[in-house]
Amino acid sequence: MKKIAILGSTGSIGTQTLEIVRDNPDLQVVGLTAGTNIDLLEKQVREFRPRLVSLQNEAACRELKIRLADMEVQIVPGMEGLLAVAEMEDSEILVTAIVGMIGIQPTIAAIKKRKDIALANKETLVTAGHIIMPLAAKMGVSILPVDSEHSAIFQSLQGENKESVSKLLITASGGPFRGRTRQELSQVQLEDALKHPNWSMGHKITIDSATLVNKGLEVMEAKWLFGVDLNQIQVVVHPQSIIHSMVEYVDGGIIAQLGTPDMKLPIQYALFYPDRRPMAGKKVDFYALGNITFEKPDMETFVGLKLAMRAAVDGGSMPTVFNAANEKAVSLFLDRKVQFLQIPEIIEMCMDAHHRIENPNVEDILRTEQETYELINTKFMEKIYY
Ligand code: NDP
Ligand code: MG
Repeated sequence: MKKIAILGSTGSIGTQTLEIVRDNPDLQVVGLTAGTNIDLLEKQVREFRPRLVSLQNEAACRELKIRLADMEVQIVPGMEGLLAVAEMEDSEILVTAIVGMIGIQPTIAAIKKRKDIALANKETLVTAGHIIMPLAAKMGVSILPVDSEHSAIFQSLQGENKESVSKLLITASGGPFRGRTRQELSQVQLEDALKHPNWSMGHKITIDSATLVNKGLEVMEAKWLFGVDLNQIQVVVHPQSIIHSMVEYVDGGIIAQLGTPDMKLPIQYALFYPDRRPMAGKKVDFYALGNITFEKPDMETFVGLKLAMRAAVDGGSMPTVFNAANEKAVSLFLDRKVQFLQIPEIIEMCMDAHHRIENPNVEDILRTEQETYELINTKFMEKIYY
């Protein structure tokens, strides 16, 4: 029996993780957390019977306690709850399927308790990779990637020597607006941006795929996860999303991982690594697929990716500013308060205004996040509303 805890169990990755638990009776859920979705968390507790759960605020936790009066489950609100679930004595692996920088502290807490991490939350490595990776190495903990690109790279590295790697090739679908001009992008609506051509994901990451910011975050994540230099990472647009990413070796040989676009494979691979388990669902049919294609990303139109590369090169606290500004800008876009092209504009304004910290600790990172939000809320608000 493998015991797991999940941060963000009501989200896109969280619910798919629970589907895998349903299909694999030797997985046992001991802890779950959600933000505000009390109805779904209640259902999950009744089905998976964890002994500890958390919701974001106290009122919601009180309500859940009343609803679950017939069950034996401990309910702890907010960050205290996230930390308690992350540190649970009997859990072996923590799935970090929560969205945002709120995932950093619980991930650190879990590593300190020697839990392996099935890492979906990108913000953790993007902003705190310099803290997380050395800590994981020190504690002898595995960081198992859930993001499909990083899982593909991880799978393509199996059995190989790290010294033989020459390049990581991260594939990108290009999102729903691939091939559009800036003029066309100025007209796009929220509904268009939420229509991802291949993947079904949470709203925030779906918008990040449309701006290519997601690919930028993935480049930063890959740098930390695989310990390579930025100039060893190349983004390749591959609209069919069949090749999930590739590794080029010093002899020119390239190893890729292919599959249908379904997050359940990378999640399951992380949970059972190094074993593979059978999985139901569609497989790649090469006759039906016909051909697959590749392009160079258009960084002049999709400025989000260019800014991400700039933040990655700058390093220090700059990726935190990039990430926080993007989070805020995306939430304004989801609330229809800014237009699509204002997302990279807001990010750039925040990056230009920031005084970079060379080696930020967790406090610096969280303070930088808040300062970035405040900057958008105050100084830039009049510029970004239309
Ligand atoms: P979702 O928005 O679908 O889910 C986020 C989860 O986090 C929900 O359970 C949500 O609870 C919870 N949550 C949000 N805010 C808080 C908070 N302040 N306190 C406590 N809990 C909170 O996100 P995704 O599943 O799409 O993504 C999760 C992470 O995985 C992100 O970092 C994303 O970048 C990454 N990722 C996602 C992929 C995907 O296919 N979806 C692919 C690769 C990476 P509630 O439901 O109650 O709001
Ligand atoms: Mg991805």
